[in-house]
Amino acid sequence: MSKRVYIFDTTLRDGEQSPGVSLNTAEKLQIARQLACLGVDIIEAGFPIASPGDLQAVTAIAREVKGVTVAGLARANQQDIDVAWQALKQAEQPRIHTFIATSDIHLQYKLRMNRQEVLEAAAAAVAYARRFTSDVEFSAEDASRSDKDYLCRVLEAVIAAGARVVNIPDTVGYAVPGEYADFIGYIMENTRGIEKVIVSVHCHDDLGLAVANTLAALGAGARQVECTINGIGERAGNASLEEIVMALHTRRDQLGLETAINTREIYRTSRLVSTLTGMVIQPNKAIVGKNAFAHESGIHQDGVLKERTTYEIMKPETVGISHSNLVLGKHSGRHAFKERLTQLGYVLTEEELAKAFTSFKNLADRKKEITDHDLEAIVEEEIRQVPPVYTLDYLHISTGSTVVPTATVGLLKEGQRLEEAACGNGPVDAICRAIDKVTGLSCTLVNWGIRAVTSGKDAIGEVTLKITLDGEKVVVGRGISTDVLEASARAYLNAVNKLLKEGENNHGHDHH
Ligand SMILES: [Zn+2]
Repeated sequence: MSKRVYIFDTTLRDGEQSPGVSLNTAEKLQIARQLACLGVDIIEAGFPIASPGDLQAVTAIAREVKGVTVAGLARANQQDIDVAWQALKQAEQPRIHTFIATSDIHLQYKLRMNRQEVLEAAAAAVAYARRFTSDVEFSAEDASRSDKDYLCRVLEAVIAAGARVVNIPDTVGYAVPGEYADFIGYIMENTRGIEKVIVSVHCHDDLGLAVANTLAALGAGARQVECTINGIGERAGNASLEEIVMALHTRRDQLGLETAINTREIYRTSRLVSTLTGMVIQPNKAIVGKNAFAHESGIHQDGVLKERTTYEIMKPETVGISHSNLVLGKHSGRHAFKERLTQLGYVLTEEELAKAFTSFKNLADRKKEITDHDLEAIVEEEIRQVPPVYTLDYLHISTGSTVVPTATVGLLKEGQRLEEAACGNGPVDAICRAIDKVTGLSCTLVNWGIRAVTSGKDAIGEVTLKITLDGEKVVVGRGISTDVLEASARAYLNAVNKLLKEGENNHGHDHH
């Protein structure tokens, strides 16, 4: 049996269904490009029929991201498949991913169909999808709670209809590893034609077992894993890509399997997804958490200094965490700046470079030592900005324990300066209200968080916040500065600009 495991990343579909996450097309494209650099085999770009925004994003990814299979999700009916194909047809390697539930509980309460009807619908959907592409994946939703003999019959039918990949998801995160491995093993042994297709698994983390179940299934013969960056996804999330990949990499001796992932891109991808989704990574998260490679106790530190392998099973460099070294300062020129960015893997247009260099010079005036992390923060901020309607000209805050916090902001719109002042319950509240006065919108701040990008007293702080206008659609804004309040103002404006931009495009967002 082949040792190759195919990595099917569903960050942009299942991950994007995480509560509170909503990415626009530009953000999804950026993540998709990074996933291609990371070396995933398949990018599930979205669920085209779910909303016009999804359709647009999948179309853009299919058209622009090359060297990787791009999949789109479709329920087992012709209309879903037609729309999925419309989005996917420009892809270099398109895959239609169609699904229907096979557990009795879903048949009875959700689909209101009997077993024979579901089997026929599944086979018909696969046959229909095959008219468009030879790469068709079928998923049996809630497979792990389905009758296993019935499931084998459904899989036989879809294989006969031309499915290339069959996915056996643990949709509700109910399985435990030994049981799931046996289940996959049973299917491998009792399904006619199974040797002709790739068996895939898709595990959810409701019991914290998504990665364990995935590895168990690989042991039983599965060769595609569906997973997300940072494990984001519905409810408790999906199996985490970085954990699966690093388990396979670090324990090749036990598992004997390989992927095509460039592990050195893991950390960068994790950061990008965290920043764009606004979903913060817990410090103790395996592989990519802030503490994943930190040795705190004296005994451990001493051991690692003497011989790293005493307490370290992986090198941080392997996942792309570089030791933040001093690189640039106030007197560094444009050439050195560009050189370092190139080494860090950023390719910028002249215009982006000019903007980023200006930010760098501003930062260098306030901060003595500029590290790689600072540079990454600057570049990410610059290249992720939507073309702004409003930009921050100046900010003045008056606050303290005995005064009412007051903010005065000056914003630029088409070269014109607009100024307003407002009081608030705190300085951040005052800033938001002053900005609202200028824009005439009244947004609600749903959530506000700060992260130190770098260390030291003059560290850059990154504020990520979420705002809503109508109480339903949530927009994420980000801003960086050495000043927390200025970073808040920038983040709030970033979110407002995105809101205005999306108002223009009028994207719906209605997931199943
Ligand atoms: Zn899922």
